[in-house]
Amino acid sequence: MMQKQQRKYPTECVMCAEKLHTIPMQDTELLRKFMSGQNKILPRRKTGACAKHQRVISREIKRGRDMGILRFRGQ
Ligand SMILES: [Zn+2]
Repeated sequence: MMQKQQRKYPTECVMCAEKLHTIPMQDTELLRKFMSGQNKILPRRKTGACAKHQRVISREIKRGRDMGILRFRGQ
């Protein structure tokens, strides 16, 4: 049986709440919310994002790094 997990973290999926399907890559401010101080992508339990959106987030962050608009870890 799957146990329904209690909400320990305050937010539900930010993107679901905002009804976003993708993140515009230029929106670094939003993407940065999903990154730690060391520019690492935060794990899902910290971002509160659902599985679907967490994938979108990490993909866009990686793409942003390639484009040079986001920083790599330790930069
Ligand atoms: Zn979501």
